[in-house]
Amino acid sequence: MTRYPHLLAPLDLGFTTLKNRVLMGSMHTGLEETKDWNRVAEFYAARARGGVALMVTGGMAPNPEGGVFPGAAGLYTDDDITNHRIVTDRVHAADGKIAMQILHAGRYAYSPDCVAPSAIKSPISPFAPNALDEAGIEKQISDMVTAATRARQAGYDGVEVMGSEGYFLNQFLVTHTNKRTDRWGGSYENRMRLPVEVVRRVRAALGPDFIVIYRLSMIDLVPDGSTWQEVVQLAKAIENAGATILNTGIGWHEARIPTIATSVPRRAFTWVTKKLMGQVGIPVITSNRINMPDVAEAVLSDGCADMVSMARPFLADADFVAKAMAGTAAEIAPCIACNQACLDHTFGGKLSSCLVNPRACHETELTVEAAVTKKKIAIIGAGPAGLSAALTAAERGHHVTIFDKTHELGGQLNMAKQVPGKEEFWGLVEYYKTMVAKAGITQRLGTTATPDDLTDFDDIIIATGVAPRDPAIPGQDGPNVLSYIDVLRGKAKVGQTVAVIGAGGIGFDVAEYLVTDESPTENLDEWLQEWGVGDPEATRGGLRPEGPKPDAPMRQVTLLQRKSEKLGKRLGKTTGWIHRAGLQMKNVRMVGGVSYEKIDAYGLYVTYGPDHGSPTLIPADTIVLCAGQVPERSLADALIAAGRAVHIIGGADVAAELDAKRAIDQGTRLAATL
Ligand code: NAP
Ligand code: SF4
Repeated sequence: MTRYPHLLAPLDLGFTTLKNRVLMGSMHTGLEETKDWNRVAEFYAARARGGVALMVTGGMAPNPEGGVFPGAAGLYTDDDITNHRIVTDRVHAADGKIAMQILHAGRYAYSPDCVAPSAIKSPISPFAPNALDEAGIEKQISDMVTAATRARQAGYDGVEVMGSEGYFLNQFLVTHTNKRTDRWGGSYENRMRLPVEVVRRVRAALGPDFIVIYRLSMIDLVPDGSTWQEVVQLAKAIENAGATILNTGIGWHEARIPTIATSVPRRAFTWVTKKLMGQVGIPVITSNRINMPDVAEAVLSDGCADMVSMARPFLADADFVAKAMAGTAAEIAPCIACNQACLDHTFGGKLSSCLVNPRACHETELTVEAAVTKKKIAIIGAGPAGLSAALTAAERGHHVTIFDKTHELGGQLNMAKQVPGKEEFWGLVEYYKTMVAKAGITQRLGTTATPDDLTDFDDIIIATGVAPRDPAIPGQDGPNVLSYIDVLRGKAKVGQTVAVIGAGGIGFDVAEYLVTDESPTENLDEWLQEWGVGDPEATRGGLRPEGPKPDAPMRQVTLLQRKSEKLGKRLGKTTGWIHRAGLQMKNVRMVGGVSYEKIDAYGLYVTYGPDHGSPTLIPADTIVLCAGQVPERSLADALIAAGRAVHIIGGADVAAELDAKRAIDQGTRLAATL
């Protein structure tokens, strides 16, 4: 008997059956733009082999003006059809199903040629769109139908028409972006005419035996967004127009409410999709922050949807469904919703991957083969770098021993998991514990390894991490000064007013920790209130009229840096704004461009500008040092001095702006070659 009876149940669509209730949602990975179609095919085939019922590709542009950026992938020519065939054939050979997403970006297209219902620039784009005339609208419909027809020729099992997230079709639906007075604007019947017409014509062109998914924005989270009554009206019209399945979209890209970041509670929006259940006769899919089989099962057994969509969890682990079926969910590498290697890469113009799985989108390039010679490998340091090296080396058949001076696997992940909004790190540490035990890796915890302990090994990997940087501020040895380690390990008493020195990722995390009582990530109602999310049935677009209402801060915190740039500028591209907004809501004072002069019992003294001037006191009961890190290499130095060869990875290699993404990638890549 499976633990996931709802999740693993087949879904009969009439003309075809999905083998379970799991959809791999659309992700723009950048793979198609590499034009290495073998690589694209292997990415999807690996997920098909892993048991997912249906996958949706990254968004394919129906025409150049609808592309997310100039040169965005699409199905424009016969050659494109041939290339996409490579993907669909490989997926079908792996007993999978795949639908192509048709994504018209409208005013979100990063191009001066972008088009929209009205010439209103989006706050997240530098380009004002060109308002379409009647013929222009007709062309967009016809191009989307042509894209769907080509998708069928290319062997896809279906298409997903992207109608949410504030893209082109969504832009017609709301008065915020649609000021037209012709038959495509004005009344709701007119505003929804375009999405309905697209689905109707796609269905007519493709016949009855082809999956047509429509992704519908169930809660826009922008001013003047759709009402719930409009959402239901649209859903019914889309069903009548011939859609097979309705998928859920949450929030426009320009919404100032996080929808998928790690601090968003798990399944935070499934209650919205649930409201649609029973209103339409076709299956409904829900999505957002569903990352483990037990969460997905609960969503389905609670009647929130007929299917779940998960996207990033399939970057983290291609075998998600297979492991759920095998009853080994603890072995699923968990997506921690950090966005660091997926969306941050996409928005930075880089190929996606995954922080916890560097092989994602690199399946053909980063391969893990059985080692020809099995070696004895010592790894010193059980943080992310050491753990990823250990698991990869063990997978290859090496005999691995991992040392750590603490009694716990996880290294700095154990500090990250203490930060409110970063609870997913608990699951990541548990995953590593499970996998280290399963791989039979010898654990020497609570052991400070010395060169004498390591004489017997063929290879030594130093993953000893980092030590806090000494900012050398006069007075920092006083009793009112703490390191971030004392704070995040919960060992130190922190006063009511706090100055945090250093505003990197850790400074931000420490500030969050100090102002938060109970993490709203663990309490959905509180989180919805904190960000001002309301019931779309009561409030248009799901925005509460009173706006965000966070709990009062636990402490009065000032966050400081020497650079004069905006604090948090170097945080993740897609998540930095959330960290900044979160702290601003808690009245954290952010001060840049300072020089630290001294610390005494009254607080921290700083000066501003090149000529310093007289110091200003920032009153503080406690000062916390978060001034970055330096490599911890004492063991490496001793071994090298003794003539031993060592491999140095992670923070012990380069500490500057180290994060788990680089550590895991480096550890995996090194071990793949030993
Ligand atoms: P960091 O990002 O390098 O930031 C160090 C901070 O200390 C900067 O604000 C820097 O600003 C300041 N600083 C540097 N030298 C200083 C000195 N001598 N005296 C006083 N201040 C000094 O390091 P971190 O915050 O320790 O984070 C370590 C890594 O973990 C980073 O890569 C970080 O991104 C990652 N991390 C990521 C997240 C995340 O959410 N993705 C969370 C936590 C940590 P000024 O030089 O301007 O003063
Ligand atoms: Fe999930 Fe982070 Fe991996 Fe993206 S990089 S798939 S958010 S774990």
